[in-house]
Amino acid sequence: MTTRTATSLDQPLTTTASSPTATTSLAWANALGQLSGAVEILGYGEGLHEMLATPRRELNVAVPLRRDDGRVELFHGFRVQHNISRGPGKGGLRYHPSVDIDEVRSLAMLMTWKCAIVELPYGGAKGGVGINPHEYSQAELERVTRRYTSEIMPIIGPENDIMAPDMGTGEQTMAWVMDTYSVSKGHTIPAVVTGKPLAVGGSLGRPTATSRGVVHVTQSALAEAGAELAGSTVAIQGFGKVGSHAAAIFAEEGAHVVAVTDEFGGVHNPAGLDVARLFEHVGATGSVVGFDGADPIDNTGLLALEVDVLVPAAVDGVINAQTAPLVRARFVVEGANGPTTSEADTILAAQGTVVVPDILANAGGVVVSYFEWVQANQAYWWTLAEIEEKLAGRMRSAYADVAGLARRENLTLRDAALVIGVKRVAEAHQIRGLYP
Ligand code: GLU
Repeated sequence: MTTRTATSLDQPLTTTASSPTATTSLAWANALGQLSGAVEILGYGEGLHEMLATPRRELNVAVPLRRDDGRVELFHGFRVQHNISRGPGKGGLRYHPSVDIDEVRSLAMLMTWKCAIVELPYGGAKGGVGINPHEYSQAELERVTRRYTSEIMPIIGPENDIMAPDMGTGEQTMAWVMDTYSVSKGHTIPAVVTGKPLAVGGSLGRPTATSRGVVHVTQSALAEAGAELAGSTVAIQGFGKVGSHAAAIFAEEGAHVVAVTDEFGGVHNPAGLDVARLFEHVGATGSVVGFDGADPIDNTGLLALEVDVLVPAAVDGVINAQTAPLVRARFVVEGANGPTTSEADTILAAQGTVVVPDILANAGGVVVSYFEWVQANQAYWWTLAEIEEKLAGRMRSAYADVAGLARRENLTLRDAALVIGVKRVAEAHQIRGLYP
């Protein structure tokens, strides 16, 4: 009989030159840097660190598209399951020209910590295709989505890895993924994706969930500082899936949304924008630019506004070493994934700006994704009131966990959130043990 010596996850693992932890990508370096910070605070050894840093699975696929005019174009697609210790992989699908393996890896890692912070029984994953969706017809995007889905079919499923919308994708994309998967299995499987249209098993409250979560954590952060949302001033970068609904909900709650920008420019009115009319303007023109009763402002100008709350809800890396010194908001609440670089984090902390980090602030989306998956698994649908109440509870208790640790240990909210997320995942690793 062979005796097995006890193995510790803290034993150093051997890494190779092609290790995903050796990188030149800024986004991936940022994600690894955040993890290293948390690992240092937690005092974990090298072996466990390497386990947490390294994605469990990465699939790299070619996605050929026959254009409407008959030409063929080829895109690169990815699905990364960063961690699956707490449950199936979970995370969005992004269509953007900048998508590459490192971007998808870093976003998958963020999903792992995010799901753990809001106590979802999920790991973290992300997918992407390096395509600019604005340059393709609906029919072309449908073919890209179906081909990508069919290429990654071996690793997705309601118990394995569940996709959702992200930048450049939406409800319709999820309906195509679900249909492609279901047709191949021979029956309808709604739980393979979340963020689907209501007509095919989507959840009430999912389209506004990320934004509502942003508002809940903003309320909690303000309350902790003895302030309240009603009467506070808010500036929002981005008027897409997250920024637009956040503007509407902030206004509903009595805050003054004084500025909003999108990729074309922006508008500013210190007395507060009429958000309902802004929606009509965007519906008619496709941009916030040119909205009457407001002055023009650009994206850098928005970051420099003296407001109570700044919500970056567009692309990553916008608050960086150059722009961070301009920020005069008391609170930065990250609606986007990765809007603040690590250099900027240091600058903001020194300025006394409180940053509510993405992995907490924008977790409302994946929380209601989880509710959608639970409903699909039960084949029983909840009311909007039930969903909103459960979302508020999760967001508030996650904020309280993070802020409590930050206070006790004198950490930034980002470090506290990372420590909580990383620790929950590490615990799952340790308790499950190493196979074989
Ligand atoms: N793409 C969103 C995020 O980054 C939602 C992910 C999900 O619902 O699975 O959090």
